[in-house]
Parts: sequence; C-alpha cells; structure tokens
Amino acid sequence: MSKTLIVGAKIFDASGAAPFEGDMLVEGDRIRAVSKGSGQLASADCVVVDGKGKFLMPGMTEGHAHLSFETVASTEDLIAPPPEEHTLLTARVAKVLLDHGFTSAWGASEAKLRLGVAVRNEVNAGRLPGPRIRAGSLEISVTGAMGDESKLHNPRTGPSIIVDGPEEMRKAVRLCCREGCDNIKLDVSGDPFYPSTPAHTTPMSFEEVKMAVETAHAYGRRVNAHTRSIGGTQVCLRAGVDVLYHCEYSDAKTLDMFEEAKDRVFVAPTVSLFHTIVKNEAAGAGLTAEVGGYMGIPGLLEASAKTHTELRKRGIRHVIGGDYGFAWSKQGTNARDIQFFVDYYGYTPSEALRCATGNGGAMMTMGSDEKQGLLKEGYLADMVLVDGDPLTDLSVLLNAERLVMIMKGGELYKNVAGAAQRRAAA
Ligand SMILES: [Zn+2]
Repeated sequence: MSKTLIVGAKIFDASGAAPFEGDMLVEGDRIRAVSKGSGQLASADCVVVDGKGKFLMPGMTEGHAHLSFETVASTEDLIAPPPEEHTLLTARVAKVLLDHGFTSAWGASEAKLRLGVAVRNEVNAGRLPGPRIRAGSLEISVTGAMGDESKLHNPRTGPSIIVDGPEEMRKAVRLCCREGCDNIKLDVSGDPFYPSTPAHTTPMSFEEVKMAVETAHAYGRRVNAHTRSIGGTQVCLRAGVDVLYHCEYSDAKTLDMFEEAKDRVFVAPTVSLFHTIVKNEAAGAGLTAEVGGYMGIPGLLEASAKTHTELRKRGIRHVIGGDYGFAWSKQGTNARDIQFFVDYYGYTPSEALRCATGNGGAMMTMGSDEKQGLLKEGYLADMVLVDGDPLTDLSVLLNAERLVMIMKGGELYKNVAGAAQRRAAA
C-alpha cells in the first residue's frame, strides 16, 4: 500500500478548528493519521512531502459543474459540437478542474446526455485525469420554458429534454438513469436568458418535480434543480429535491422551509454568472453590463445577496461553483466563488473555504457512509498543498502553479512541493 507523509504543513482540516502546524499520514486512499506538531508520525516506507511554510487543505468540490462547457457564448455552442469532439472537450475540462485543486465535481447538467458519464467512467478507471465526478444529465424542462429552443416552424434538438406531465417526466428521468447519470437536472423556474419565462416564473409543476424526485431516488440517483423563483424553490423543497441552484428570490416562508430542510439539502448560489455580467466581464461576448441591466441581472444579484446571506445565518449548507465554462468565466477559475461568498454573503474566508471543501465533500457522499471533505483520520485522502495562505489571500487558489501538491484518493497527481521529497529509509 502506498504511504505518503506530509510534514510541517499548516493544516486546515475544514472542521471549523483553527489551522495548526502538523503532519499528515496517508495510507492507500485514506488519511491514516494527523498530528498536531511535527515529527511524531513514523516516516518508514513513506514518500515524504515537505509542507513547511505551506497550507494543506482538503481538495475542493465544484458544486455545479458543467464539464461539457468550455468558452460557451451561446446555446449553439452546446448543441453544435458533434459528440466525438464534445467528449474530448469534456475530458479536457475534467483535467483543468483537477489541475486547479478541484478533486470533486458534482455534475449539474451536461450538453449531451452521456458526456459526463463517459468521462466519469474513464476517470474512475484511471485512464484519464480528472476529479471524482458525479455525472450530470441533460437538463429536463417543459414546453416553452428554459431550454426549449424550438419554434413550431423550426423544431430543434437540444440542449434539453422537453417533457409535459408526470408520465413524460418519469420516462425522461428513467432514460437518464439508464444511460448512467448520477444527478438528474430539472429546470423548475424561469431564467433571464429565456424572455418568455423570466426568473420569477415557475413553469414546471409540483407533480412533475415530485415524479422526477421519486423516480430518481428509486434508482439511487440525486436531483438538482435550477430554481430562481419563490414558487420554484418552494416546489423543490416540498418535493424532496436534493440540490438547489441559484435561489435568488425568497420570502419569509421560503427561508423557514430551507431551515427545516437544512440537514437534507445542499445549495449552490452560482453567483459568478451574474457577478461577471454586472462587472462587464462578459462584454467581450456581447453581454455588456448594459445588456445585463435590460435583463434584470443587477436585481437578481441583489436578491441573491439578500437570500444567501440569510441562508448562511440559518446554517444552510452552501457549496461553491456553478456556471463556469462560459467565454467570460473560464473553467479553472471556479475558486473565485470563495471570494464571492465573502463579498456577497458575509462569510469569513475560513467559512467560505469550508463551503468549498467540507460541504462539497458532504454533498459528494450524501446518503452513504463514505467520508470526504475533511482532513481527518478515515477520510478519503483528497487534498491540496498551497504555496501561500488562502485565508489571507484567497486569490492564491486561482494560480495552479501555487498548488504544489494535489492528491486524489491517496495518489499524488501532482507533487512539486520541493527538494525534501524523497523516499525515507525503512
Ligand atoms: Zn448551470
């Protein structure tokens, strides 16, 4: 069994404890021991990694991954690529995430049904580099809502499965399960990119959502929901959706419903998309701040800050990430969300980093006995050694060169931690 000893690092274990200097022993795919202070753990047969002056933290989880999105500027970029090219693109993105310290990716949805599935299988088999992947399905939506790009005179295939009524929903979810998806994605509310169903509307019915949840759970899968509206979020919480995305609008009742469900659900605000539009970072793709203004994006961003600040105070488990992969929000910059959590929702850097690590790990292992996301004995050995202190400057996490060691499941995917790397004498 492979053994690695990381010595003298400042350890952020994501449990809420203050970081401490210590050593970490990894055996096989597990954390075997963590010591406060250095020099207490035997180094026999270990690859020794010099962590002195560096920051050791759990690997991050991208909570709303679109592995098949790379510099997307329109839905045409999701529909047009042939499956062969699109699969290669998806594999590239998986590697980019791991290179940037994301050892897990919770798939939100993909542009074609089996893109996440195929890449997940290759990564699991050890034939391609990438994070642990929960494969997202195609988006499932209803006629006339987000993702329905057809017109009567011009039917189009993709980028979503369009269903109407619980029976069609049951069939669509079963199809996604049969094809190997781990996570089923529902478009419950409207969206500012679809003017006929704006963000505050709720085109999908409770009966449809409920059917999707029952069907997915019967197959042991999880359900993700796109929901921006109050009605949509309440439908999701009542129907048993596992992971809620966006959730900008809320009222007192919605917040109370969240609090009741807080041990069951995970929430990704996906703040990056609207932040980048409002800050004119999407202007190069024609989506200027002015256009965003006409779409009502500043109001949505304001609502997001209000709702998610309140959810933070109520102890809802937030995860970072979401909607990276557009032309103006490149894959690999997903850790920007940690700073956004500080700026928009009032998290401390340490709490925001726990959302990126501990909460993400808990989401990945939801409903199982597996332990992931903390640097504690018995947990899966997914971790990153950072040359710098993210708690004083979160931007160090955006620089892949500062991530001097990346370990997934006990395997050293990357290790340039320094000259002290050696195999110690037995
Ligand atoms: Zn998304």
